[in-house]
Amino acid sequence: MKGKILIDSQTCKGCKYCVLACPKGVITIEEKLNTNGFFPAAAVHMNECTGCAMCAEVCPEIAIEVWKGK
Ligand code: SF4
Ligand code: SF4
Repeated sequence: MKGKILIDSQTCKGCKYCVLACPKGVITIEEKLNTNGFFPAAAVHMNECTGCAMCAEVCPEIAIEVWKGK
């Protein structure tokens, strides 16, 4: 089962909850600030994503959308 996520980097506050929640290590924190002055999360290993949505569930900013493949 494959999944895909989209992180809204401008809404992200860089709390890292999604990084810690992802069991597949898909997400990391970028080294470049967003326009609001936060280091945002980014999906760097999307091919590992299962679509479990744990990242989206823990995100306090509702900045992550998840799609689950068939
Ligand atoms: S949907 Fe699951 S596997 Fe994919 S990035 Fe989010 S927590 Fe990780
Ligand atoms: S949980 Fe949400 S706000 Fe926190 S780093 Fe991840 S995407 Fe950004």
